[in-house]
Amino acid sequence: MIKDMTLMQELAELDKKHFFHPTSPIKQQQEQGPDFIFTEGKGIHLHDVSGRRVIDGMSSLWNVNVGHGREDIGRVAMEQMSKLAFSSSFATFSNEPAIRLAAKLAQIAPGDLSATFFTSGGSEANDTAYKLTRHYWILKGQPSRKKIISRAKSYHGVAMGATSATGLKPFRDFTNSLSPDFCYAGNFSSQSLRDVIKAEGPETIAAFIAEPVQGAGGVHVAPANYFKEVRKICDEYGILFITDEVITGFGRTGKYFGIEHYGVVPDMMCFAKGVTSGYAQLGGVMLTEEIYQEFIELSTGTLLHGYTYSGHPMACAVALKNLEFIEQENLIENAEKMGLEMLKGFKWLQNERSIVGEVRGLGLMGGIEIVKNQNTQERFTTPVAPMIVSEAAKRGLICRSVTFDGQDTLVFSPPLIINKTEIDQMIEIIHDSIHALE
Ligand code: PLP
Repeated sequence: MIKDMTLMQELAELDKKHFFHPTSPIKQQQEQGPDFIFTEGKGIHLHDVSGRRVIDGMSSLWNVNVGHGREDIGRVAMEQMSKLAFSSSFATFSNEPAIRLAAKLAQIAPGDLSATFFTSGGSEANDTAYKLTRHYWILKGQPSRKKIISRAKSYHGVAMGATSATGLKPFRDFTNSLSPDFCYAGNFSSQSLRDVIKAEGPETIAAFIAEPVQGAGGVHVAPANYFKEVRKICDEYGILFITDEVITGFGRTGKYFGIEHYGVVPDMMCFAKGVTSGYAQLGGVMLTEEIYQEFIELSTGTLLHGYTYSGHPMACAVALKNLEFIEQENLIENAEKMGLEMLKGFKWLQNERSIVGEVRGLGLMGGIEIVKNQNTQERFTTPVAPMIVSEAAKRGLICRSVTFDGQDTLVFSPPLIINKTEIDQMIEIIHDSIHALE
């Protein structure tokens, strides 16, 4: 089993000394070193330096939609890098992969979302959306419209604007100064959105942003009518509606984009992660035809917003190949079908194990609440989900716990290529991991 202990120890020591990990428990990381040092990925599995093989039940960071080890994507990256690794997209410069990807996105995006501003990831996409909406209102002669409303359990990333929009308070409390003009509505209450708009003054609100399904906040699925009501309220007060599809885009929920479940079209849409399935760093914001045209008509100077890697040729070529796989292999339909199987498995767990409370999901995003008492939904004083995550890792499954806001939740987001046998394996491991702690 232990393939190369010496290499593992060497890497673990170097990791502890030099690698400042993102979103990590710093002390624990320092004392214990990395739990896994991954070396390879194939399908839904990851392999580590000590020879272990685990199911990647989170698609790593909700992003490896087409699964690991796609050599064809690697080939496309190498061909593009050999031909043109990088060139600027600023001003009047362009490149073929970025042009073709923007056109492809216009074809698959909901409604008339038809123009794309590219970024390197989801946080940049969110910051871009806030800046573009604020600039839009300057162009429209309403500069007082600058506030962005988000929601209580939302996660929008870690750039300064994205952190400021993030409703989960621990992320905002991490730093002692945030961007101004962000406010928060209740999670799934359209009335709360209306109340915040009225309290702040509709003439001061630039946009409302929401994830179609909240991921990092614990996989929370909106009630059926919620986004229709949101769209109506935004229209009523002339507020732009932005969806953050960074997790929910590109098939994750069983539709190309999460908002399609709700039958409304946003004014802007942020994306990242699944656009390349993590094979390259890419994100962006899509605008409706109407808003894009308004930008063109009303702008007089230069659009002073752009990242060095906006429209990166290799990342865009990788995205095009990734989308080809999603479509050719019917991965969106598979996400819908396997999502139902996963939910069926969660319901079975609910009957089998007394600490499984509410279960929920949409497509291949799923959540399980851990409770002390199934009838009252009372929780344990110390969260149990993190312990289940450790037990699952020992048994060959990577999943995640969410303990924000007093939650005690397990979340799952396996690659869209997963099959029924592999879903059953996941469910069995979760079952055994819970059983081991009882
Ligand atoms: N928005 C949502 C909904 C996310 O889940 C994330 C990351 O998990 C982000 C934005 C930030 O994306 P990135 O980590 O690529 O900056």
